[in-house]
Amino acid sequence: MLGAMQDWTMRITHVIDHAAREAGMREIVTRWADGSETRTNWAGIRADALKMAQALQALGLRKGDKVASLAMNHSRHLVSWYGVAGMGGVLHTVNPRLFDDQLEYIVNHAEDKVLCYDAAFQPIVDRMKERWTTVEHYICYDSGEHSPAFEDWIGEHDGDFEWVTGAETDPCMICYTSGTTGNPKGVQYEHRSTLMHALAGLQPAAFNFSSASCMLPVVPMFHAASWGLPYAGAMAGIKFVFSAVNDPAVLHDLMIREKVTDSAGVPTVWLAHFQYCDKEGIDLPPLKAATIGGSACPRFMIERLMKNGTRVQHAWGMTETSPIGTVGGPTWDWDELSFEEKVDKTAMQGRPVFGVELRIVDLDDMMTELPRDGKTSGALQIRGPWIIKRYLKAEQDAANQDGWFDTGDVGIIHPDGTLQLTDRTKDVIKSGGEWISSVELENAAVGHSGVAEAACVGMPHPKWDERPVLFVVKGEGSDVTKEDILKHLEPQIAKWWMPDAIEFVDEIPHTATGKISKKDLRDRFADYKLEG
Ligand code: ADP
Repeated sequence: MLGAMQDWTMRITHVIDHAAREAGMREIVTRWADGSETRTNWAGIRADALKMAQALQALGLRKGDKVASLAMNHSRHLVSWYGVAGMGGVLHTVNPRLFDDQLEYIVNHAEDKVLCYDAAFQPIVDRMKERWTTVEHYICYDSGEHSPAFEDWIGEHDGDFEWVTGAETDPCMICYTSGTTGNPKGVQYEHRSTLMHALAGLQPAAFNFSSASCMLPVVPMFHAASWGLPYAGAMAGIKFVFSAVNDPAVLHDLMIREKVTDSAGVPTVWLAHFQYCDKEGIDLPPLKAATIGGSACPRFMIERLMKNGTRVQHAWGMTETSPIGTVGGPTWDWDELSFEEKVDKTAMQGRPVFGVELRIVDLDDMMTELPRDGKTSGALQIRGPWIIKRYLKAEQDAANQDGWFDTGDVGIIHPDGTLQLTDRTKDVIKSGGEWISSVELENAAVGHSGVAEAACVGMPHPKWDERPVLFVVKGEGSDVTKEDILKHLEPQIAKWWMPDAIEFVDEIPHTATGKISKKDLRDRFADYKLEG
């Protein structure tokens, strides 16, 4: 027997319809690369998305066709998120920081037919055009010097269009992981998974939006669906402020002028903002909440933001998880905690939002489930309706038959459900049969004022199998010594975790998404020898 409620297909066109209807006047502000600013609102975004859907159909695109975007954060990019899905298409948000071979691979692999790009990325388009074999049309989000301009292109249509309907499980977006080894892998989000993920983002324990929220997302729209913010924000009818450039001076000015309450970005973005404020001798912007994720948020960052009156939402996730897995925010016992305890808790990766399940398993057999005791660490697995089942065009599932997807992360789960990431399975250091967290060592090291960046790698050791070696980039003008760093580490970590060596380097290699690339570091120091 069936229940007796109405049919309502979970498609993301509902999201933009709702935003336009219930928060139609709420503003969407864009600060463009050339310094100009424009204002539209949710009703305007929907009206343009309808026109874009018509324009795509006029080019001959049909349901299931792929449209690529090569763009920073701005209102026309937002229009594309809804316009492409509204015509039944799939938006492939391309990361412009990828290397040429990766750019070639992903656009051809996704079979993108149209590519919408920022004028700032014209050099990439010029370089790659010959290599992108499936792209038939190029549209420029800014001027129309080399390709039709987006506004002119959609402006030829009247917006009198019915959203294309279909199944909840139709795809609506593709994001590729940057892939530290081999080719990037495509993760294909569905209407249903996207909608449910956005709802999860609305939980008070996650983004905690109200209709009064004003969000400036620094996390790019091309990275892991911008953490679902453009969808969750539409559901809550919040104001968005977008900046097509990531210069801290520009972001700071926008945050003050537009009365921004919320922002989201990786730790390096916040670091750049701190440095800017220190240089100018000004206060941090009075944000209510800062979502920080993508890599571990260091303690000093949490402390400084909390002292600024900003709630820190430390989130963990990955492209394969849409990306929200866990988010940290005030817990039930928050008022009873000291400031230090609050910082300690926030430095962990938060608790799972409703909808996803986490577990840790034995690193040796990758099967045996381990206790959630706040002490035992293991390989982190996740399952849920917005977690990957299979990579685009892959022959085998990425998740096992029970839905558990192996994240490649290593962590501890506390009895209250808080996740504490300790490493990546590839980077954790095995010394004399015991595990050492390279990440904890790095975090402790960057707490020294003379250390700009640190990366810890396990190096082969004749007696212990592996021992930690810490690579350090000194801060500008710093004369920090190896002894200083060891002294700084001593009270923070177990004795047997102390690095066997500290090596000063000019720079530490990074991936296209700005994370430390330990693979490159290991390659660079392939002949490194530790004494027995
Ligand atoms: P990439 O394209 O660089 O793989 P992802 O965003 O998919 O980008 O990377 C996901 C990985 O980033 C996670 O598996 C984890 O290792 C790391 N990560 C994400 N958030 C956090 C966090 N809050 N703390 C520590 N590591 C994190």
